[in-house]
Amino acid sequence: MSFFTYKDVYFEDGVKVLEVNLLPEKYCNFDCIFCPIGRSQNKIDEKVSFEDQEQDIKELLERIDKNEIELVFINSKGEAFVNEKLSEIIDLIKSKNVKVRLLSNGYVLGKDECRKIANKCDEVIGELKVLEEEDFQKVQRPIAGYTIEEYISNMIEFNKQYKGKFIFEITIIKGYNDDQESIAKLKTIIKQLQPEEIQVVRLEEEHFQKKLGISDERFEQIKKGIDVILY
Ligand code: SF4
Repeated sequence: MSFFTYKDVYFEDGVKVLEVNLLPEKYCNFDCIFCPIGRSQNKIDEKVSFEDQEQDIKELLERIDKNEIELVFINSKGEAFVNEKLSEIIDLIKSKNVKVRLLSNGYVLGKDECRKIANKCDEVIGELKVLEEEDFQKVQRPIAGYTIEEYISNMIEFNKQYKGKFIFEITIIKGYNDDQESIAKLKTIIKQLQPEEIQVVRLEEEHFQKKLGISDERFEQIKKGIDVILY
């Protein structure tokens, strides 16, 4: 069974990028109400041994060669660390002298094993969507026992020892983190985290716009406020 999926190859700042999903269906440790992939039937933060990946891995490496790819962006249907072959796949890509960017929601970066794997990547993206414990439980519906405090501290501790480029993606959501108090909290977190790059985004899916979307004007204001943070 073949399950890796790809986006069309594209250029980003002159770098040729191949974006790949390494999961057969959604596997995530969260179950966000606004997840673009849908509900989490497999809410998990353990590794899963998916069968028959050899052909997929071979095809990934062939695509890298054929398209002269310079960076592979691992952007999976959920949490890529669930695929037990993630480490091996990263090694194979790196053996071709190709850079790796890994997207994670960031919670499992607190685990030793995941940290070691992420350390092999040139770029790691960690995310933050809400700031309060109650909101975290209500709208991101993580695995039992997860807390927002641990989530944030897992990313901070990871980046203290990480040598690559940590990209912090903040999603602005109406009613959850778009007020002045939340923006001040975000700035404090950014100062502790010290990411190399900050990406401020909002929910793009049309069906979330009415309840959770913010206006263009407020979005630009928030982006400007966050962009000027110096550390
Ligand atoms: S962390 Fe991302 S993939 Fe996981 S449920 Fe939330 S939005 Fe979906």
